[in-house]
Amino acid sequence: MTGTIFDKIISKEIPADIVYEDDKALVFKDISPQAPIHWLIIPKTPIATINDINESNAQLIGHLYLVAAKLAKEHGFAEDGYRAVMNCNQHGGQTVYHIHLHLLAGKPMGWPPY
Ligand code: 5GP
Repeated sequence: MTGTIFDKIISKEIPADIVYEDDKALVFKDISPQAPIHWLIIPKTPIATINDINESNAQLIGHLYLVAAKLAKEHGFAEDGYRAVMNCNQHGGQTVYHIHLHLLAGKPMGWPPY
């Protein structure tokens, strides 16, 4: 599989404003923020889309949400609330085919998201 720009961020070949890192996940600021806080939580092992989640990587996806909740508490926006969302394929608005959780916070957000 051809890599994406996120592989180069993981390997530190290209810079990113990194917020958090552990053995399984990396979190960095989105280059085009849509909220006061807009971070991307990605697995270090690439998964292309939500359609590629299966029993063997489901725990890793769960880990991304654990990281989201941990960061929300540590950075003080857990109580006010936030959005943690994954886009899938063209209609979902996905542009980078390395699964990522958008973590958005710092203002009230509308629904539906269009
Ligand atoms: P998607 O549209 O796939 O759900 O989200 C991809 C996100 O990655 C977009 O919000 C976009 O701004 C962000 N992004 C794309 N390229 C880069 C990059 O090189 N660095 C950073 N920090 N964010 C990026």
